[in-house]
Amino acid sequence: MKPLWHYTCGHRAADLHEDGYLRPGLEVSPPGARYLAKLNPILNAIGHVGWVTDLDDLCVYNGHKVGIAPPELISCDRTMFRFRVLEPRGILPWMMVAPWWGPVAEILEQAVPGFEPVHVFVATRPVPVEFSPHHAGQTIPVNQHAG
Ligand SMILES: [Zn+2]
Repeated sequence: MKPLWHYTCGHRAADLHEDGYLRPGLEVSPPGARYLAKLNPILNAIGHVGWVTDLDDLCVYNGHKVGIAPPELISCDRTMFRFRVLEPRGILPWMMVAPWWGPVAEILEQAVPGFEPVHVFVATRPVPVEFSPHHAGQTIPVNQHAG
């Protein structure tokens, strides 16, 4: 199986690094979501998965492939920090779960132009991850919640 990755912004990176697990339900930003949830509350229902991809080169310019809304719609760069999935158990392809979600999945697929469902996976239970920087010299920010 190809390596799988989780991306997040500076607000979440320190906590994720410290915890070492991507936990479904704590991942507050499904594809395009923070903004989509305002449009359609039903989208909150699918917040209880962790979002993962097989793309190892996400950035603000191609985040739309996994449903991350373009920079002008969200306030932070959710492709900033990359984590590698260490143990892929409990991770399912979007193509498998989308039929279960029916119209919700369709809404998500159409919400962000350029979404490529084949590159999207969801974690249905906590999966261990480790920081794997894709920007040279990058380090995890100081945990603002520590202490
Ligand atoms: Zn953020």
